[in-house]
Amino acid sequence: MQVGVIAIQGDFEKHITSLLACGLGASEVVEVRTPEDLSRVDRAIIPGGESTTVGLLMERYGLGSALKDAAAKGMPLWGTCMGMIMMASKVVGRSQYTLELLDIEVERNAFGAQVHSFEDEVLVDGIDTPVLGVFIRAPIVTKVHSPAVATASYGGKIVAVRQGNLIGTSFHPELTDDVRLHQYFLTL
Ligand code: GLN
Repeated sequence: MQVGVIAIQGDFEKHITSLLACGLGASEVVEVRTPEDLSRVDRAIIPGGESTTVGLLMERYGLGSALKDAAAKGMPLWGTCMGMIMMASKVVGRSQYTLELLDIEVERNAFGAQVHSFEDEVLVDGIDTPVLGVFIRAPIVTKVHSPAVATASYGGKIVAVRQGNLIGTSFHPELTDDVRLHQYFLTL
């Protein structure tokens, strides 16, 4: 299995560590910066980071359209935090480049400027006991349109979604030692 981690900006190294902890070999985990890199993997993770910056770079250097083509052919993709924003079809109150892969609307930094980051347990569909949700200037999902479905909520707000082989989480499993969501992603 060849798993890509989009390595333009953000906490991609943490995802690499989590994937190695799942038992993948170093040669099975690939940093993806270009469409050529993406062509060498069968699934990919878009990490946390800054969605405005990453969107500009993805649009400019063609990785955005390569990801859209790959998703259309069924490639599993998982976006954490910024990655989920990148995969959303709409961002509340802003026009910024996104991949428009998940039929959802997201609101950035939705827990408020004063709540910069926090951690709490989150129950995610498909995982039998709660995971530790690490939220850092996290988005929430304000609208979910079929065929996307909500797979986790926190405080009444949707914080994880799935649409076929595409998943998004508001929080950062890669910043914990719990690799169950990474393992789940590897089964898609
Ligand atoms: N607030 C960031 C954004 O809107 C996302 C933060 C994160 O990925 N931890 O792009």
